[in-house]
Amino acid sequence: MASYEEMLDEAYKTVVRTEVAERFEVPKVKGHHAGIRTVIDNFGQIVSHIRRDSGHFAKALAKSLASSSEIKGDRLTLSRKLSSKDINVKVEDYVREFVLCRKCKKPDTELIEEKNKSFIHCLACGEKREVHKI
Ligand SMILES: [Zn+2]
Repeated sequence: MASYEEMLDEAYKTVVRTEVAERFEVPKVKGHHAGIRTVIDNFGQIVSHIRRDSGHFAKALAKSLASSSEIKGDRLTLSRKLSSKDINVKVEDYVREFVLCRKCKKPDTELIEEKNKSFIHCLACGEKREVHKI
């Protein structure tokens, strides 16, 4: 039988966990234009926040923005002049598709390859769903 303190502790943990899941916010893109190209200065920060492979994220982002991409350190250069608003929309799409679990909405997931297919696997609830290949 749990003590009153333990129950409070459990309740607190549940609340915190839920809030974390609902508040999973990706840093907004900070960038600048270099001629006809767009440089995302905080690409590294976004990558470490969403904990995905930088190459996978860069490729998906470039594809959805119809451009090519080049990673240099913490920066990503896209071959077109784009607004940060348009990039943010695509970053959010990526997070919905490749980071957040659709069942429990948590970001504690990993991308795995099985039989030449890609899946997102949730470490929190065990949900597994197929995602399209980049
Ligand atoms: Zn889940």
